[in-house]
Amino acid sequence: MPGILTFALHYEGAINKNSQGAVSEAAKLSQQLGTECHAVVVGEGISDEAASSLGKFGATKVFRVEAPEGLAQPVVDAMAHLFEANGYDYALFGGGLLGFEVGAGLAARLHAGVTMEVTQVNVVDGKLEAERPILGDSSISTSKYKSRGIIIGRLNAFEIAESGGGAAEVEDVQVTLSGHAQKAKMLQRGEQRGADVNIEDASILVAGGRGLGKAEGFQLCEELATALGGAVAATRAVVDAGWYPYAAQIGQTGKTVAPKLYLAAGISGAIQHKVGMQNSENIVAINKDANAPIFEFSDLGIIGDLNKILPKLTEAVKAKKGS
Ligand SMILES: Cc1cc2nc3c(=O)[nH]c(=O)nc-3n(C[C@H](O)[C@H](O)[C@H](O)COP(=O)(O)OP(=O)(O)OC[C@H]3O[C@@H](n4cnc5c(N)ncnc54)[C@H](O)[C@@H]3O)c2cc1C
Repeated sequence: MPGILTFALHYEGAINKNSQGAVSEAAKLSQQLGTECHAVVVGEGISDEAASSLGKFGATKVFRVEAPEGLAQPVVDAMAHLFEANGYDYALFGGGLLGFEVGAGLAARLHAGVTMEVTQVNVVDGKLEAERPILGDSSISTSKYKSRGIIIGRLNAFEIAESGGGAAEVEDVQVTLSGHAQKAKMLQRGEQRGADVNIEDASILVAGGRGLGKAEGFQLCEELATALGGAVAATRAVVDAGWYPYAAQIGQTGKTVAPKLYLAAGISGAIQHKVGMQNSENIVAINKDANAPIFEFSDLGIIGDLNKILPKLTEAVKAKKGS
């Protein structure tokens, strides 16, 4: 029964949140289409436990392909092979740099339609239609597919939902890698800063903007993030100014996050920033300008100077935690 094939990225034995959301979405849509959701994991020595855990999110079968991990072309080879062997109609997976590269390669290989940065997928007349925000997120464009469709979500756009399914069946598949897929080698994987915290997975983010005044201002965010057990994020303005690494940028041209708490310090709340963090459970903003747009979509707004407020917050959190 052809259905949806989804790709799940993992790192050190754990499937990442972005992929868990994509598998959940693919499983939900498969059910509506009356088909199944199958997943593929590509890497070296992926455990049965990690692969079969995708059953929790609704995948009924997981193909495990032994190939270099974290690189796009081996994934394209693996997915193209599975498409030809099993006749899937759609591929649906989470975005991010790797996801976009895999999507582009797979669309070219399969002569399929491709839509990136998708935030919603609907079943209409038994087919999938993908919605993607355009023009600075002021409008929505809808893609329909004449034959096969490759749908790539915006980072963390799809909600993680445990379907109540148990462990998925794991099938090992041999894929002959094309010559060009063997040319790149992964030397090292990790975040540019804060290797211990991945900002897409952090449940607390302390984000800094131009209101920090200078690169050194980020120390205030780092101290509070450390006290709270969270990570630091940034706006494009400060990343462009070289105050903080690009890996921490949130927004239209950065990452999309949905932590439990997003604390925005010295951030005006431009639409291009908002689209990357608006799904956070609680948004707290500190800004000295009472008319800053960020207050329009914050759960709690603090009007004042971040140079005074951030150190006090850090002190209060430390005192509460007794550290
Ligand atoms: C195509 C395109 C894509 C873009 N993509 C992104 C993106 O992915 N992510 C992104 O973030 N931006 C993006 N931008 C840029 C975006 O439009 C804004 O310019 C940017 O988000 C502003 O960053 P900011 O809030 O740090 O700076 P500002 O807009 O300059 O805001 C600084 C804020 O700090 C406050 N402030 C100043 N001093 C203090 C103080 N002492 N205490 C408290 N508050 C203080 C000010 O009142 C102000 O509200 C994009 C723009 C374009 C055109």
